Parts: sequence; C-alpha cells; structure tokens
Amino acid sequence: MRKQIVAGNWKMNNDYVDSELLVSKLLEQHIHSQTEVIIAPPFTSLLCSSNSLKGSQITVAAQNMHFAENGAYTGEISAGMLKSIGVETVILGHSERRAYFNETDAILAKKVDSALRNSMRIIFCFGEELTDRKSGNEQAIVGSQIKNALFHLPASEWEHVVLAYEPVWAIGTGETASPEQAQDMHAFIRKTVENKYSSELADEVSILYGGSVKPANAKEIFSKADVDGGLIGGAALDVAQFRSIINAF
Ligand code: PEP
Repeated sequence: MRKQIVAGNWKMNNDYVDSELLVSKLLEQHIHSQTEVIIAPPFTSLLCSSNSLKGSQITVAAQNMHFAENGAYTGEISAGMLKSIGVETVILGHSERRAYFNETDAILAKKVDSALRNSMRIIFCFGEELTDRKSGNEQAIVGSQIKNALFHLPASEWEHVVLAYEPVWAIGTGETASPEQAQDMHAFIRKTVENKYSSELADEVSILYGGSVKPANAKEIFSKADVDGGLIGGAALDVAQFRSIINAF
C-alpha cells in the first residue's frame, strides 16, 4: 500500500517566532492518523520545528540542499548538515528553484544522489509550463524531467523517492489542474516509472499533486486513483486550511 502524504511547503515564509507559533497551532489540530504529514519550513526554523513536533505524526523536510558534502559553496547547506539536525526528507526540483536558481535536471540528479547517499528521502518535484501544456507537450516535458534526474537510480533506491507533479501554471496562481488533468498526468507518470522499472515498483511510489490545492478542491483531487496526496504551498501557512486539506482524504 502506498503512503498518503500531505506536505506543506512554507517557502521563504515564517521566521523563528512565526514558525514556533504555526507549529504549536498545528499540534492542536485533529488530523487523520493514516495520512503522513510533513512541513517544510525555512532552514532557520527546521530545528525548532522538528524539536516541537517530536512524538507527533508530523515531520519536517528541507526545501532544498546542495549536492556537495561540504566545501567552498558559500550560503549552501548539505545533506549531512540536514541529517545532523534530524531532517530525514528534502524537497528537490521545486519549480521556483528551477526557474529562479537555474536548477537543471543535471544538477538535480546530483542532488538526488547526495540525498540518497545520506539516507534521506526525496520529494522530487517536476511539472510543465503553461506553454508546454498549450502545445500538447506536457507529457514529454514531465517524462524527461523524471528520466533525467531519477532514471539512473537502481530500483532499490525508489523506496526513498516520493514524486510531486506540480504544473508550473498552477503554482500560487489560484489556477488548479482539474482532478481529471491531475489523474491523467499521474497515471502517465506511474506508467513511465513502470516502463523503466516494474509495475510492482510503480505501484508503491506515492505521487503527490501540487498547485493551488485548497480545502475546496482537495477532496476531489485526492479522490483520484493515482493521486496519493498533495504538496501544498499557500494553504499550508494557514492552519485551518492545512488541517482541512489533510483531512480531505
Ligand atoms: C508549491 O509551491 O509547491 C505549491 C503547490 O504552491 P501553491 O499551493 O501555493 O500553489
């Protein structure tokens, strides 16, 4: 049985004090126990958040990391550094990282390898731009993003990989892929993984949908057969919205 996951990406929001407040409010919420809940605060709030969440069903993830183990990379954070404060999961390939920080598939493949070398789990994001969808190229783009960053992995590493399909045109725009568009793409993604590896492996991979998921649309999106949860941006900053998205399963 693959895992149902709801992950909240806080992006560059919430300083230390705001993070402590949001985490303490989250801990007061009643959330379904069968759903794994992850929050991804900024680096400066990872340690305080994970300390406060100890013993709960919520864990933390980093929003990014560098591929090198250490060295002259001013301003960067390595997998080992994250592990040293107990962070076990990292989001890689978010479209904002790809667009604003020039993260290519080749760089992401190196980050994937570094995360796995350090026994971390990866939430790997990818998705097409609006122009790709308008020209009917969405599957080609998504297929190549997955292949270029992940298909060098042996099958045994895939238990540490969660996929997150996030059409760029739906992120932070209020525009959501319809549940059918999400399902179609998720089915394509699962088939792509199956063709490379096996149906058993593809069946076990959780594929999250991300892009303007809100309480009003979460239930319908999550009801689709190949949608195993969500990566949530804006709505993860509001505890009531985040709770109701989690409980939409
Ligand atoms: C995201 O940044 O991963 C995201 C899905 O954002 P939003 O929910 O705000 O569209």
